[in-house]
Amino acid sequence: MLIDTHCHLDFAQFSVDRDAVIRRAKEAGVGYFVNIGATLDSSTASCELSVKYPEVYASVGVHPHDADSFKDGDLDKIKELVSKDKVVAIGETGLDYFRNLSSQDNQKRLFISLIEVAKSLDLPLVVHTRQAEEETLKILKAALPLRAVVHCFSGDENFLKSCLALGFLISFTCNITYKKAQGLRDMVRLTPLDKLMLETDAPYLSPEAFRGKRNEPCQIKLLAEEVSRIKGVSFEEIADRTTENAKLFFGLK
Ligand SMILES: [Zn+2]
Repeated sequence: MLIDTHCHLDFAQFSVDRDAVIRRAKEAGVGYFVNIGATLDSSTASCELSVKYPEVYASVGVHPHDADSFKDGDLDKIKELVSKDKVVAIGETGLDYFRNLSSQDNQKRLFISLIEVAKSLDLPLVVHTRQAEEETLKILKAALPLRAVVHCFSGDENFLKSCLALGFLISFTCNITYKKAQGLRDMVRLTPLDKLMLETDAPYLSPEAFRGKRNEPCQIKLLAEEVSRIKGVSFEEIADRTTENAKLFFGLK
């Protein structure tokens, strides 16, 4: 069994054929999906999907891109959503200084607020960070103890080591299959198997052979195959270990 620990099945890209997408993934061996909220509306939709589909769990959060439009009362709405059944994490949340679609001050403020929600409920945190590694670590360190996964890992070896030293998990997406992604494959090699999770981030980041097309959770199989090649261990072991990590991290039964 494989677990897609980070996908966005609530997005419009799946509105026409969501049932088929989930069926294809199950046929490919995906046992559970953690659907990640990217905005308040997307978090609401994520919770709704978790009610509709037994295999879907929800994470509630707001992407740093949307920090500027986050209003005071929105935090109460987040807290209300978080109390629902099958909400297993807070995120995505974090800092994105690559695109800077929201001001860095607002990104930091929102990140810290969502960390507080996670801590108050003892939920793990799904962290997005891009070109903001130093600031992200500073904020996370100030909030320890904390359970977190750094999703779609894109940092360097130093950042990887800092995250591992804090006990955080690392999740990789299908972008490790890209021709020019040798640096990312090196990071996969350096991540211990008990700290590694798999995610598609669908609809984004299709694997190399499907680049430019919509990504789907069924493609996580190709990702597991790539990790198996990089690590030189069997596909079954990659599937077992990453599934065990995800079950433990998100508290899935
Ligand atoms: Zn995402």
